[in-house]
Amino acid sequence: MKEIVTVLGTIKKERVGFCQCHEHIMLSKGRPFEVNPVLCLDDVEKSLNEVKRYGKAGGCTILEAQPGGCNRMAEELKYISEKSGVNIIASTGFHKLVFYPENHWIFTASQDELENIFIHELTKGIYTDADNRFPRAWCGARAGFIKTALDVEGLTSRYERLFSAAANASIKANRSIMVHIEQNADPVRLLEFLKDKGVKAGNLMFCHMDRTCRDRKVLEKILRAGVYLEFDTIGRFRYHSDEEEIRMIKELIAEGYEERLLFSLDTTRARMKAYDNTAIGLDYILAAFVPQMKSSGISEETIDKISNKNCIRFLTN
Ligand SMILES: [Zn+2]
Repeated sequence: MKEIVTVLGTIKKERVGFCQCHEHIMLSKGRPFEVNPVLCLDDVEKSLNEVKRYGKAGGCTILEAQPGGCNRMAEELKYISEKSGVNIIASTGFHKLVFYPENHWIFTASQDELENIFIHELTKGIYTDADNRFPRAWCGARAGFIKTALDVEGLTSRYERLFSAAANASIKANRSIMVHIEQNADPVRLLEFLKDKGVKAGNLMFCHMDRTCRDRKVLEKILRAGVYLEFDTIGRFRYHSDEEEIRMIKELIAEGYEERLLFSLDTTRARMKAYDNTAIGLDYILAAFVPQMKSSGISEETIDKISNKNCIRFLTN
């Protein structure tokens, strides 16, 4: 079984508790901010307050989905975890290439160099200087999983190189892979590609497909293969209501997929109360969505799977 690696070290699975599997807690001002101004969470005390709010509501663990070289703030994640008591599991890997400046090393590094960077972050420590130069300096915190992103352009040579490096790092360092799935991308093709590289479907989490994939046949194909689906269109009413979200979750439960579902909020500046007091807050799932799931007839046992057991299995299998 794999270890569960947080920014403060390894933890036993009993300590994972309630877990949101795709959040952004700290994010320095850089290219993501230029692409979308809500992609900036650079006030450590505000982010700490938000994580404390999550802890107070019953949250225990967060998977932080901002990879290295892309405005991740590793030292601050350690500080927030220490002060809040909430486990934070950081990521290595890569995001959509639109989130990197043109001259960034992510565009020119070879597949072997990328693989070595990912493995270093998973096994030795997270780089702290990777935003602006080829990474050299690193801190003691390790990454616990590999974040990747499937863009609409698909597995073009520049993304194939990144996904190949992620697949090899996953196998060599024995860590799971999270994938951002962009709207109109082809997740089935990616699944085949990663399986051909030797990655097991049970070591994959595909994110955002509750809003980026309306084709039920595609969802089922991926679930049947054994991939975890992380849903986070919760409290995001410009996409759909929470009732609609619960209806989708219930349909998948009825079809026997409750062992494969995960949930989260994919927070931005616009979704954290500490940054915007009209926002839903990082505690929204615990405070509002879980009670709504229960009153819609979803059992405590199923909610426990989605919020805890499935996350542990994703991280450790
Ligand atoms: Zn995200």
